[in-house]
Amino acid sequence: MQECITALCICWMKGSINMRQVAITATILDKRGRVLSIGRNSYIRTHPLQAKCATAVGEPHKVFLHAEIAALIKLRDWSKAYKILVTRYTKDGKAANAAPCKACQHAISLAGIALVEHT
Ligand SMILES: [Zn+2]
Repeated sequence: MQECITALCICWMKGSINMRQVAITATILDKRGRVLSIGRNSYIRTHPLQAKCATAVGEPHKVFLHAEIAALIKLRDWSKAYKILVTRYTKDGKAANAAPCKACQHAISLAGIALVEHT
């Protein structure tokens, strides 16, 4: 299944000229810097939390999972979440802007995460 999804993503990337797909990773850490959860953005997966946050900020078209929300979904206990680190790197390995969008900022505040860091 995972291989099918990966193959599908590769097909999409090869086949589309206008569709710019980027890989963003969000890591949630506790106060001592221990990793609690890692999430990646997706162009095929959706989730009710994503829809809820996107709608709350007036951007209901953002249905596909963002990395920040993917990481939050995986984390059962939000109370230990202290920091979220959002990163994006280009093909050349250079850091690119990965500031959380409004929908993700909403989710981060719902979770009560105090610190946000991003590339
Ligand atoms: Zn977002």
